[in-house]
Amino acid sequence: MTERRDDGEPPERATADGGAEAQPPKDSGQRGRRYVIRGGAVMSMDPNVGNFAVADVLVEGSKIVDIRPRIHAAGAGVIDARGRIVLPGFVDTHHHLFETAERAFLANGLLLDDHSGSPSAHPNYGEHILRGFARHYRPADVYVNSLFAGLSQLDTGVTTVLDVSQIHHSPEHTDAAIQALVDTGRRSAFGFFEGDGRATARYPQDAYRLKDQWFSSDDQLVSMVMGGELHLGRQVYTRAWAIARELGLRIAARSVGSWGMRPIFDDLARGDAGVDVGPDNLFIHMTGMSDQTWRRLRDAGAQVSLAFPIEMTMRHGTPPILTMQRLGMEPSLSSDVETTMAADPFTQMRSAMIMQRMTVNQLILDQGDLVPPNNWPTPAPGTPELLTVRDVLRYATVNGAKHLGLDGKTGTLTPGKEADIVLLDATALNVAPLNSVPGAVVSLMDRTNVETVIVAGKVRKWKGQLLDADLPRLRRELESSRDHLFAAMGLAQDLFAWS
Ligand SMILES: [Zn+2]
Repeated sequence: MTERRDDGEPPERATADGGAEAQPPKDSGQRGRRYVIRGGAVMSMDPNVGNFAVADVLVEGSKIVDIRPRIHAAGAGVIDARGRIVLPGFVDTHHHLFETAERAFLANGLLLDDHSGSPSAHPNYGEHILRGFARHYRPADVYVNSLFAGLSQLDTGVTTVLDVSQIHHSPEHTDAAIQALVDTGRRSAFGFFEGDGRATARYPQDAYRLKDQWFSSDDQLVSMVMGGELHLGRQVYTRAWAIARELGLRIAARSVGSWGMRPIFDDLARGDAGVDVGPDNLFIHMTGMSDQTWRRLRDAGAQVSLAFPIEMTMRHGTPPILTMQRLGMEPSLSSDVETTMAADPFTQMRSAMIMQRMTVNQLILDQGDLVPPNNWPTPAPGTPELLTVRDVLRYATVNGAKHLGLDGKTGTLTPGKEADIVLLDATALNVAPLNSVPGAVVSLMDRTNVETVIVAGKVRKWKGQLLDADLPRLRRELESSRDHLFAAMGLAQDLFAWS
């Protein structure tokens, strides 16, 4: 750690309440602007930085420059973090931001119709969202849906997302999706996936224009990932993968056995799919895949994103966390769809932990027979380790950043990285008294505890209020988009009909 210089600037401004500013530091995130996040419990998620019961984080411009107790930073602004947990912003590696208008429309819905006639089979995701609502989106719908979803996630502390954007019916739709990510003001990877394939669609070749027009610099908040869905047919996906690799883009694709994708992934594993798996691949879900596919992905250094609650509720299959543990792999976490589940990181982390522990706890109980003294067996050798709160925190921060190729910029609190930081209120009614930082975050907290959110040094949420967003106006625009979409679908807006 470098010593802080004292260059004779005036001391930190003191205010009536003993040092902290009531307003966010002025011009935060701008070049040369400095402020100290003072006195918080800092969990850096970086083993080389470590954790501090009480420490300061010094931010200059868009970057973290120092983390340690009692930083002296003359002239710098101050954010009072006493009683707060200071953590890296969360990373969500798969969210369909455009579907906000259909929030909770499929609270019971399955992926596909299983012809059971149950309320879970109809409406369902394939028929009513991808082949239904999605067809009726105009560019303005894409914009306001994506912006609203992004602001909502920023409010929950998700400072980085991969938008698995499958709404590219035309270049105008695409530009609207990217503009929404830019206007949200958080770190985003724009996932250029297919649209509904109408004549105006330019997937995948529009990637050349997008790279040129929107993503010519690496020094910006929004980057690009190529969608490379294998079920689109060989001609399309081989072209998409080739363009991605020519342009140096990572490639993301869903892999859902129950959607019929297992055979094509077996081809991929055998080397018969016309494309090669590599460390630039991110596969989403990986439910119901063969051992051969898993081994191939692991050996190639590919990454996997799991959407635990969605996979469990929509019948993708059991989240393959035990397979990943066996192979020495770790997932990142993803929220997937707000048609069916909340998109905050606390829901993701808790679901992951509960699902894995339910499974492993039962495995261990089954090694006994519930007859004393064999009611509480010692786990047999080879039994998977129970996930801990630190594991799922790692999935939701460091791993997410790695899987999007953004770990040089975010995912940990590390001097030299961008300042993507959340301050979580540990004095709140649902949290105090604070006894364990990782424990409190994962097992107790929810979005109401996300007090301040910082992206690349810029304060985007301050003391519970999102900044620079006209939410009443955006909500009206979203409602009007929802009205258009329901009318186009010929569906009644009945608040008790759909779930
Ligand atoms: Zn998805």
